[in-house]
Amino acid sequence: MDLGLKGKRALVLGASRGLGRAIAETLAREGAIVIAAARNDAAIAEWAAALPGTDVTPLRIDLADIASVDAAADRLLADGGVDILINNAGGPAPGTALGSPREGWIGNFEAMAASLFHLSSRLVPPMRERGWGRVITIGSSGVEQPIPNLAMSNGIRAAVLAWSKTLASEVAADGVTVNMVVPGRIHTARVDELDAAAAKRTGKSVEEIAKASAASIPAARYGRPQEFADMVAFLASERASYVTGSRVRVDGGAIRSL
Ligand code: NAD
Repeated sequence: MDLGLKGKRALVLGASRGLGRAIAETLAREGAIVIAAARNDAAIAEWAAALPGTDVTPLRIDLADIASVDAAADRLLADGGVDILINNAGGPAPGTALGSPREGWIGNFEAMAASLFHLSSRLVPPMRERGWGRVITIGSSGVEQPIPNLAMSNGIRAAVLAWSKTLASEVAADGVTVNMVVPGRIHTARVDELDAAAAKRTGKSVEEIAKASAASIPAARYGRPQEFADMVAFLASERASYVTGSRVRVDGGAIRSL
């Protein structure tokens, strides 16, 4: 299937590692012109160098710093904007709902939600003018089934999901689709870090935690970043032109509800 991604300009946030990196690599291999952004642009330059024949430009951005977000938007708009925006950010530290500090809520809301809303407000209008665009936001299974001890992630991402759905209706008639992709447990460094934190909290080994976690998933394993990135690439593609306002799970069946 030709995804029709050749020559499309894509901004992928949180692209130094994990899901963002896998998405950026996949879009680049499909022929998109990829601007891969994160705080650590050197890490992006390193993985991009291992993908010969692709068009990847690293861009330094700190989603916790609005000046950095605006500077990136200015630069992208000066080059004509982007066709595809992948809204992806870091996740917050684990913690319970009771006792999560106010400053943490505000700081994480800025980096995980407000900056994505602001950047989208700047980058989506030119997509509407051109009559083609894709906005894909990376969520979490916590928006459907809150994950214990990830209170900030559950709370903030629910707001991001509602924003994504609202935006979808605003721009659907202009050829711009807006969707959220929800990872269950995809094997990245963050998942290893969360398993290590759970091991420390419970006194179990990391292997025991990871084994129990995988056993709770119908597919009986963690997902691979490539499996997640393939769904994002499809939603970014020409082929997904009538899919908008959706929340798509990539979770090996982990969410049990309808
Ligand atoms: P990750 O921590 O491995 O990668 C996060 C990326 O965001 C990195 O490139 C990091 O440098 C970047 N980033 C972090 N803070 C930033 C900032 N202030 N400015 C710019 N870039 C910043 O996480 P991941 O596993 O790839 O997951 C991506 C997102 O999906 C995270 O928000 C995570 O919480 C969420 N998520 C992942 C899973 C999973 O199974 N991997 C499950 C649920 C939710």
